[in-house]
Amino acid sequence: LSRDILAIDIGGTNMRGAIVDHQGCLHRLDCQPSGFAKLPVTDLTTSNQIITNRICSFIDSLIGKQTVIRKIGIGFPGFIHGHNGVIIASPNIPSLLNYPLAGTLSRLSGYQVTVHNDGLCAAVGEYHFGIGTRIDSDSLLHSTLGTGIGGGLILGGKPYSGESGMALEFGHIKVEYPGQACGCGSSGCLETRASATAVVRDYKQRCGHIRTAEQIFQLATDSDKTAREVIAQAGWFLGIGIAQTACILDVGHYSIGGGLANAWSLLEPAIHAALAEKLFAAQCSQIHIHKSLCMDEAGILGAALLANEQVHY
Ligand SMILES: [Zn+2]
Repeated sequence: LSRDILAIDIGGTNMRGAIVDHQGCLHRLDCQPSGFAKLPVTDLTTSNQIITNRICSFIDSLIGKQTVIRKIGIGFPGFIHGHNGVIIASPNIPSLLNYPLAGTLSRLSGYQVTVHNDGLCAAVGEYHFGIGTRIDSDSLLHSTLGTGIGGGLILGGKPYSGESGMALEFGHIKVEYPGQACGCGSSGCLETRASATAVVRDYKQRCGHIRTAEQIFQLATDSDKTAREVIAQAGWFLGIGIAQTACILDVGHYSIGGGLANAWSLLEPAIHAALAEKLFAAQCSQIHIHKSLCMDEAGILGAALLANEQVHY
């Protein structure tokens, strides 16, 4: 990385950003609520303006008096044309539809802005700065469990995003029939069973208490039976998603990030239980599940690498 990339990882609930130096160290790391998942879809023009303005304010606050920024890289959840940064649709931010986010932000900020799928950014970051540096393989599937579930694939050392930029929508693999309604318009998606949102919903359904994902992780650590069960269930469904992906791709290494990965001691055995149930033993023995090393920084690092055109696909 050259010394002047501002990178932002945008989610439906929060956005995190930093200035990334040539060694992959983050400076001025900051996190702000985005609130994008809750914006109304009745007035798209207003919602688009709110999203754009909030990102611009965040960019201004991160840059401050810093004048050496050359480019800005953004990771954004949803179906995105990475080559031009147009958001086609975003299941968790439904108010944004066919919106040229990169072009709009470039015009308003005066900087060259690239926008890629957040899951792809996180995979690039994890491959180059995290788990990817510790495995004897040039392929890695990285998944982020947050408001939704992001996924990204590195295949043969390169990010793979498919013919139209929509490959590895890992969160929308079908794990249940018919299953619960998903923000993408379908139902039974992995995202409806293994995201932080799903854990919060399942906890409330089982015991009637409304708790945040972080509170549920803490409760699980404190041996709360319901909290442990909903997290283990999320892990089991995650294993189903990984098993299906493994059947198609034969990728051996999977890294898991996002808040839910903090409950690793519950998540990991549940993932392996599902893999053992759904795959041939020979397949199973080739699969390695890792907790993300970069965690919340993976998306920022990957967005910076992609903006700097150090990583091509
Ligand atoms: Zn879906």
